[in-house]
Parts: sequence; structure tokens; C-alpha cells
Amino acid sequence: MYHHIKKLMYTVRVGTPDPVYGKMLLEQFGGQNGELAAAMQYTVQGINTTNPSIKDLLMDIGTEELSHLEVVGTLAMMHLKPMKGGSRAAAEADPLLAITGGGGVNLVDSAGSAWTANYLKVTGEPDIDLRNNIAAEARAKVTYDRLMRLTDDPGTIDALQFLMTREITHMRAFMQGLESLDKAPLDVGFYAPTPGLVDQFFNDSTGEGENGAKDETADAPWIKGFEVVNNPGFNPDHMKLDGVPGSAKQDISTSSRKHIEPVENAAE
Ligand code: MN
Ligand code: MN
Repeated sequence: MYHHIKKLMYTVRVGTPDPVYGKMLLEQFGGQNGELAAAMQYTVQGINTTNPSIKDLLMDIGTEELSHLEVVGTLAMMHLKPMKGGSRAAAEADPLLAITGGGGVNLVDSAGSAWTANYLKVTGEPDIDLRNNIAAEARAKVTYDRLMRLTDDPGTIDALQFLMTREITHMRAFMQGLESLDKAPLDVGFYAPTPGLVDQFFNDSTGEGENGAKDETADAPWIKGFEVVNNPGFNPDHMKLDGVPGSAKQDISTSSRKHIEPVENAAE
């Protein structure tokens, strides 16, 4: 259950309201990497999760994100104050905010696009959800960074510093949550990948570029341990496509598989 305490998680002070900046702040209110998206993503993941410690982690952070939504929404609302009052100038500056929203905040991003659940990544697999959350926190952090660089208002920077810091804290908690699942980094999902094929890197961008760009693959720092297959499009027989499929990591009963038909390539 939720309980609202009539106090912001972090006190917000604004010197001179800056409505254009207030609109930018909506990116963290109703935007794709904003606080509502974070709150909803973690909460819905938490509802789906049966692992008690991961569920607790998701519900704790999901709830904190709702408190962040309240902080950033209040901050945006204070900056948008000049949009209130129905002036023609305010309506011309932003009809959506001034006329539809009456100068208040709404669940839209900085460009006025409505918030959507399509922003959320919920997979029903705790390890995959946690990886999504680590990336989501990094995106939220860098969004706060950019917003901080766009204002001189000390009170605003102070509140954003708090919100930005918490995203790094969350990132760390999700990373430690992922570690606690004790899964190897490439241990994803149900089926084991095909041996041989899984260790081949397809070098699909070859040759020299107009500006002297070279093929970096062979010496790249990330290629370690891979077998490089050059131009597989021209050398299809170099791809280990006939490798013996790996066995499923878990036993699948015949009854749960018998209705699954092979999927034919629709283009054929
Ligand atoms: Mn947050
Ligand atoms: Mn966060």
C-alpha cells in the first residue's frame, strides 16, 4: 500500500522562475527516462517478481522514484509559474502548457509528447529487468547532468544534484541485486546457445572508408576470445550454422512442448 506524507523528499527552492527551463524539466516528469517511467517500471517488475529480496529492492526504489516525481514536478511547476494567469504571451509561448494545462505540469515530455507505458521495459525475468534498470538509471543520471548545465539557479541545481545522486545509488543497488542472482553474464533465458556459432563474430563492416577509416575488428579491444568471420555475406559456409544445438538448460517435458510448431520463414 502507499501512504503520502505531506512533505517533499527534498526541499525545493527556486530563485527566478524560468518557464522555458520548467518545460525542459518535464523531461524528467513525463519523459522517457523520467521519474514516472522509473517508478512504474520498477513497481510493475516488483509486482511480477517472486524472489523476495529482489521484490523488496524493486518496490523500495519504485516508491522512491514516486517521491522524485513529486520533487521534480514541484520544481517544474515553480518554474512554470509565469505561465499561469491566462496571459496571451504565455499562451503564445506554449499553448499546450498554458491553455490545456493552465500553466501546471502534465505527464508530457519537454516536447509535449504524452507519457506512455511503451517507455517501460518489463520482461518477467529478474536478471533482464535488473539490467534494464541499470541502463535506465544511467540514462536518468545523464539527463539530470544535462539539465544541471542549462540553469544558473542555485536552488534548482541543488535539487537536481540530489535527484542525480540518487540515480547512481539506485544503479549500484540494481548492480548488486543482479550480482546476488549469481548468474553468469551471458546466462540469459532458457535455451543454451549453439556451440561454435555463439563464439563467432561476424565482421560485416570491412574495407577502407573514404576518410581513411580502416577495418578495426581484428585488433579491437572487444574482440578477445572470438573467432572472427570476415564478410560472412560472401562466405556463408564460414558460419557455423550447422552446429549441434545446445541442450536446454532446464528439462522441458514433452507435454509442454508438443503444441509448439516450428516457425517457418514468412518470406519464403
Ligand atoms: Mn529518480
Ligand atoms: Mn533511480
